[in-house]
Amino acid sequence: MLNIVLFGPPGAGKGTQSAKLIEKYQLVHISTGDLFRMHISNDTSLGQQVKQILANGLLVPDSITIDMLEEEVQKNPEAKGFIFDGFPRTVAQAEALDAFLEGKGQKINGVVQLDVDQEEIKTRIAERQKVSGRADDDAEKLLKRIDEYFSKTIHVLPYYAEQGKVVQVNGIGEIETIFTNICSAIDAF
Ligand code: AMP
Repeated sequence: MLNIVLFGPPGAGKGTQSAKLIEKYQLVHISTGDLFRMHISNDTSLGQQVKQILANGLLVPDSITIDMLEEEVQKNPEAKGFIFDGFPRTVAQAEALDAFLEGKGQKINGVVQLDVDQEEIKTRIAERQKVSGRADDDAEKLLKRIDEYFSKTIHVLPYYAEQGKVVQVNGIGEIETIFTNICSAIDAF
């Protein structure tokens, strides 16, 4: 099993790189953001519960997020491994994921941190908003999401760094170059 966390601020390119990685490594991609958006567009009870939270750029409570994530992993018993994208975003989520994987005799092999500065993120998300129409990509909500990343999510890194699992990859440049660098990191996990 190869379990990877793709870590980085909103707009770092996690979605783009995940799509390429699942093809190369035959992993299952789990994006908690995509899952929440799917629940919202299907108007499920979970979707109704989190709709406003996403619209405001805030983090969904850990218990809801962890339950959804674990359920998604359980749906893929044949998986060769997973790419976790947008999860974990809090230390509590990281601890829950470790405990959950341990119970299955598995672990996180490594964490790829896509490094992109705040100015670049804002430019990219403004561009994405023009095509995606994602409500949480507008300027005010974006600031909130960036704030959530730098006030809460960033603390997940030391948790994994203490385990010697974090590799930093420059997230600015050609998509192919970034992909090659991520693959080198993964191949060394
Ligand atoms: P993303 O597409 O990863 O940027 O996620 C979009 C939104 O979904 C975030 O702004 C949060 O509201 C919510 N979300 C996604 N993943 C998580 C998570 N691991 N913990 C809490 N909220 C999350």
